[in-house]
Amino acid sequence: MVGKSDVERIKVMHGAGGTMMQKLIKEHILKYLSGSNAEVPLEYLDDSSVFNGIILKSDSYTVKPLFFPGGDIGRLAVAGSVNDILMVGGEPKALALGLIIEEGFRIDMLDRILRSISETSKEANVNVITGDTKVVEKGSIDQLMLNMSGIGLRHKFLDRNLDVVKQYYGDRVYRWILDRNIMPGDKIIINGYIGDHAIALLSVREGLGFQIDVVSDAMPLNRVVNEALRVGGVVAMKDPTRGGLSNLLNEWVDKGGYGIEIYEESIPIRDTVKNACEYLGLDPLMLGNEGKVVMAVVDEMAEDVLKAIRSQPGGENATIIGEVTDKHKYVVMRTVIGGYRVVPPPIGDPVPRIC
Ligand code: MG
Repeated sequence: MVGKSDVERIKVMHGAGGTMMQKLIKEHILKYLSGSNAEVPLEYLDDSSVFNGIILKSDSYTVKPLFFPGGDIGRLAVAGSVNDILMVGGEPKALALGLIIEEGFRIDMLDRILRSISETSKEANVNVITGDTKVVEKGSIDQLMLNMSGIGLRHKFLDRNLDVVKQYYGDRVYRWILDRNIMPGDKIIINGYIGDHAIALLSVREGLGFQIDVVSDAMPLNRVVNEALRVGGVVAMKDPTRGGLSNLLNEWVDKGGYGIEIYEESIPIRDTVKNACEYLGLDPLMLGNEGKVVMAVVDEMAEDVLKAIRSQPGGENATIIGEVTDKHKYVVMRTVIGGYRVVPPPIGDPVPRIC
């Protein structure tokens, strides 16, 4: 007989975007659900999947608190789902909203969240066209949870972008922008400061006792991605959400089969965020972001892509933070003092319920 303590149970870390979540997905979810004939199937574990030319994405939002500096669960949901469609080279076309509401939730707060969904959708040039509403008994969930699913179509600049890639990589043909596409020599670009979202949330959580001036970066990245693809040369794109930059880069190394070197002094981190991380014992590389994109770009095109991104809202602080290498198969950081250290994937995002 199996004793009570032998039964494996889900822990918070299983949903925290690190190695524990990867293990849960690979050993349980993929075990039953992989094997479709989708062009970009579930088992690629990319930001979205592609079926019959349609990009499909589903994402749920459990952020706590529901309102935070720089945003709320509604803005987060639109940005999160739209960004994942953009990341594979898609143009977001329509959204589906699932609302799960705890009995007793204030209707004026629901209105605020729906207004925010409407405004952020306009910003992302997309509409919510279907949905579902459920109310559950008091105590069975914490206030409100959202599911935001979406569809997209091939981005109008995707083929143009891939033509530029082809000029440098020849026969290596890409159909979509996928994690596995990274190639030695690619430059790694990020569109701005990391850690703002997680630290903004922590600053308003009860009991932490620190006040700082930082707002969430939650935003749809249509314009930044449009400009990058218009210039061309982008081979991989991913948003550093749960698990942050370190999880993202380790996924690229895993799927792409090459190493990545990043330069500590180039990684944009605000002093306020750096200080908060020191105070709380957190690694900014592992913190989740909701308005950031990391791109692997053909070396020769990197400066042009960078310039284009910087001209867009959300891209002003874009910078090159590293490159792909065939010298090893790790994520390695060249530190400010000139040493090197391996950047491991996080076990899970150290800050739960940030998205
Ligand atoms: Mg993503």
